[in-house]
Amino acid sequence: MRALPFTVALLATLALTAGCASIKANLAETAKWQSLADRVTDGRVTVRLVPGQTGQYVHQTRTLDLGRDLTERDMMWLLAHELGHYAAGHTAATLENEIAANASGVAFLQAWGLSEADAVHLAEQEMLGVVRRGTRLTGASARAHNYCVEFRAVAAAHPAVSVPSNTTTLCPITTADK
Ligand SMILES: [Zn+2]
Repeated sequence: MRALPFTVALLATLALTAGCASIKANLAETAKWQSLADRVTDGRVTVRLVPGQTGQYVHQTRTLDLGRDLTERDMMWLLAHELGHYAAGHTAATLENEIAANASGVAFLQAWGLSEADAVHLAEQEMLGVVRRGTRLTGASARAHNYCVEFRAVAAAHPAVSVPSNTTTLCPITTADK
C-alpha cells in the first residue's frame, strides 16, 4: 500500500512539470511580442496575449490585447496596427484613426526589419483578406473600419510599391468611397 502515495506524488509532479512547460512557453511567446512593442514604444505599452483573432489597445491602461489564434504574420500586423493607435493617442474608433494607425503600423513593421514593400504588402494583404472573407465586423470596429478605403490610403502613401492585381475586383472604386 506504500506505492500509492508515491504514484500520486509522481503524477502530481508530472502534472506540475507539464503545467510549468506550458506556462514557460506562454511567457516566452508573450515576451517575444512584448519586445517588438518595446522597440517602438520605449516599453510604455503592456502586451497581453488573449484568445481570439482580434486586437485592442486600451488608452487608459496602455494595455494591448493581442489575439493569439492567428498566424505569426497576422499577429505582427495586428500588433503594429494597435501600436499605431497608441502612438497617436487615439481614444476613439473612427475611420480617420484607423487610417492613421495603419500608416504607423507600416512604419513599425519597417522598424522591425521588413522592407517597405514587404510591410506595405503585409498591410494590404490583411485588409484585402478581410474583404475577401466578407468578415462582418461588430461594435465599434464596424463603424470605424472600411478596409477598401484603408487599403487605398496605404497604397497612396507608398506609390513606389506595386498593388496586388486582384485589388479592383475586391475593392471596386465606388462613389461611396470617394
Ligand atoms: Zn484599429
